Amino acid sequence: MCYWREQPARTLVLPFLYRKGKVIVFWPLRPQRKSELHISIAGAGIAGLACAIALGQNGHSSTIFEQAARLETIGAGLQLGPNAVRVLKDLGVWESLEKHCCAPARIRICDANNGKQLSVLELGDSFAKKFGSPYRVAHRADLINALAQAVSGNDSINLVNNCRIAGLEPGERARLKTVSGDVHDSDLVIAADGFRSPLRSQIAPGNDPRLSGETMYRALAPASALPAGLDPDAVYLWLAPGAHVVHYLVSGGRRLNIVASVEQPADQSGWNNIASRDDLLTALPGAAIALRNVLSAPESWLAWAGVDLNPFTTWSASNCVLVGDAAHASLPYLAQGAAMALEDAACLAACLGAGDNVSRSIARYEAQRQPRTTRIIEESRRNARIYHMRGSMAQVRNLTLKSLPGSMQLQRLSWIYATHPYHDSPA
Ligand SMILES: Cc1cc2nc3c(=O)[nH]c(=O)nc-3n(C[C@H](O)[C@H](O)[C@H](O)COP(=O)(O)OP(=O)(O)OC[C@H]3O[C@@H](n4cnc5c(N)ncnc54)[C@H](O)[C@@H]3O)c2cc1C
Repeated sequence: MCYWREQPARTLVLPFLYRKGKVIVFWPLRPQRKSELHISIAGAGIAGLACAIALGQNGHSSTIFEQAARLETIGAGLQLGPNAVRVLKDLGVWESLEKHCCAPARIRICDANNGKQLSVLELGDSFAKKFGSPYRVAHRADLINALAQAVSGNDSINLVNNCRIAGLEPGERARLKTVSGDVHDSDLVIAADGFRSPLRSQIAPGNDPRLSGETMYRALAPASALPAGLDPDAVYLWLAPGAHVVHYLVSGGRRLNIVASVEQPADQSGWNNIASRDDLLTALPGAAIALRNVLSAPESWLAWAGVDLNPFTTWSASNCVLVGDAAHASLPYLAQGAAMALEDAACLAACLGAGDNVSRSIARYEAQRQPRTTRIIEESRRNARIYHMRGSMAQVRNLTLKSLPGSMQLQRLSWIYATHPYHDSPA
């Protein structure tokens, strides 16, 4: 696959003399830069904040409209593969984020019922060397804070909180309308308003979120809650019939982040539905003692519904465009939601360049991002089926995991980690 970064266009005015068949060009002359865009962004999640920073690097100014009174620092852990870390470095936020991240040395895949290890995927130096950037895990709040810090120190970005967007109108000037009746005109509207995206229904009607039939539970506990005998330097993936659990340390190693996915009907109302430990332990009746101890550690649990979007191709209407979960929400089973949002931002900024031709740039952005995000959605669904296998299917899966070297299993993910989705060629 071939990707390109569009360079900022300059209009060069080259005076010349024509004398006796020779053209004499006077060089250099100060290039006249094409005027930059002003962009309105709906939503200050990972996609919206990253878009503003990436576009600012190309000289564009933006206003971000966020419905929440302050940036939502709730949420659980996020895994940042090398592709996500690469964008964070390019955005200039990696330095402030890195100290809050943990550096897992490996992924341990275990059978949730007998506690036995099925496979180990090494994430150390050779992994970082191979993919050009390391694998890290962070709390969502730390990532949001690092992006917000970069936004607040940037004069070309204006963040407006407490401002819910009600609709948009493409046109010569793209228009955002707030629920209080204000209108904001700009050269481009970016809809970064998450998987429920009210703006998506105006750009691409009929693409509503699909419930996966799973409830996602999340909790944090002190790092000391990790039972003795479990590896603090590992991301754990426990596989159970109809469920799986992932845990790892976050917040510089101070807290244990636990997320469980269980095949059971979900309350769809938000990210923060109160859940009980007993609900979870009942859903994992055969859990091995080490896993039971992990699940018993947190005092409280929150739950949300597993949802994704069926891939669709209408990501824009004229000069209004979707990014992040609003365009391609996926189940979190490849841990790529935040990474895809970051890549979208970098790719859109690269395609827009100096902003010469907005509609052509949007078409390039869609062409570059859609195949990759479609594959992420599809492979995440496939992982759900594999992780939750039962009976003889689960036995075959476990035998395969035991017999395949971890390096080969990681190789199957290199299409995610090795690609530079906004540069000329794979990294
Ligand atoms: C509160 C919260 C907690 C999360 N917790 C987790 C988690 O624990 N684990 C995980 O894997 N993923 C979590 N996510 C999702 C994860 O952050 C996203 O999948 C991914 O980062 C893509 O980000 P995004 O910016 O596209 O969407 P989001 O992160 O969903 O951000 C969308 C933003 O748009 C704002 N918004 C929505 N509608 C409007 C409107 N009409 N007007 C103005 N603003 C609007 C929202 O308030 C939000 O700030 C969470 C998201 C949120 C919002």
